[in-house]
Amino acid sequence: MDLPKLAIAALGGTVSMQASHVGAGVVPAVSGEALLTTVPELKNLARITVETLGLHPSASLSFEFLLSVLHWANAQVEKGATGVVITQGTDTLEETAAFFDYLWHHDAPLILTGAMRAASQVGADGPANLLDACRVALASNSRCRGAQVVMGGQVHHANSVRKTDSLALQAFSSPVVGPTGMLLEDSVRYFHEPSQRKLLPLPQRTTQAIALLESTLSAETLLLDNILDLGYDGLVIAGFGAGHVSEQWADAVEKIARKIPVLIATRTGSGATAQASYGFTGSEMDLIGRGALMTGFLCPRKARILLWLLVGCQRQDELACFLARD
Ligand code: GLU
Repeated sequence: MDLPKLAIAALGGTVSMQASHVGAGVVPAVSGEALLTTVPELKNLARITVETLGLHPSASLSFEFLLSVLHWANAQVEKGATGVVITQGTDTLEETAAFFDYLWHHDAPLILTGAMRAASQVGADGPANLLDACRVALASNSRCRGAQVVMGGQVHHANSVRKTDSLALQAFSSPVVGPTGMLLEDSVRYFHEPSQRKLLPLPQRTTQAIALLESTLSAETLLLDNILDLGYDGLVIAGFGAGHVSEQWADAVEKIARKIPVLIATRTGSGATAQASYGFTGSEMDLIGRGALMTGFLCPRKARILLWLLVGCQRQDELACFLARD
């Protein structure tokens, strides 16, 4: 039987990390080719193309680099790959998943995975996550679902997944909505039909700067007061509760929103911003009146990705439509 084609790219991260000597911290060192040898079952599932596109800690992945990874992934689908798997560090997985999802125009699955335990550690989870990710990427019921994250036997939607634990093995969750699917024995079970996707073209510009600030108790306005002079093209605020800031910040937001887009998300880690509940100065209703937009369920970091992409293709006037609740 002709096996399907599967393309795997390794970018680095803990899944590829080991220490050079006892006592040294782990660093990205294991190539994609070497990772594959830890999952011998894969050769029975697909004809695999693997490339090591980088050996980076995920904190240092840039948007430009991700665009080059996307270019590679697009070429793999054009060459007949049934699906594409990307291995990377988990620290920024929730952001890269959202980034790729807005730009992934194929029906073929794009699956991101990583590991919480380094390749050299006892009980490393990388090989199992990679096998799961490949199974999900090859499954016909994964088509038309955009970019998804596979970790710890669960499948998460790019828009909802977050790293919610720093070191635990089960570090990923999708607050409120839960995982979109799970690995069940050797197959993938989805809990919902694929939803309507929101897609964007490639950004024509990549120099735009989007700031992300968090509201904190009794915080000064120094950064806000200088954000326009610093040349930022957009601002995301991880606000209190349902999308709130202090009175001082509300005044600053109004001035900034006259010039650049300002998005207000919640800093709580779960749930949506409100639209029409609170009326005090600095509340969501007040901030909307001052020209800010509420991000709904989109977390602050994913909201920043969306704004960066929209500004990059000069479609920031469509922000409200992209943020509209499903
Ligand atoms: N815990 C992270 C990882 O799982 C650290 C390094 C990184 O994100 O690259 O990969």
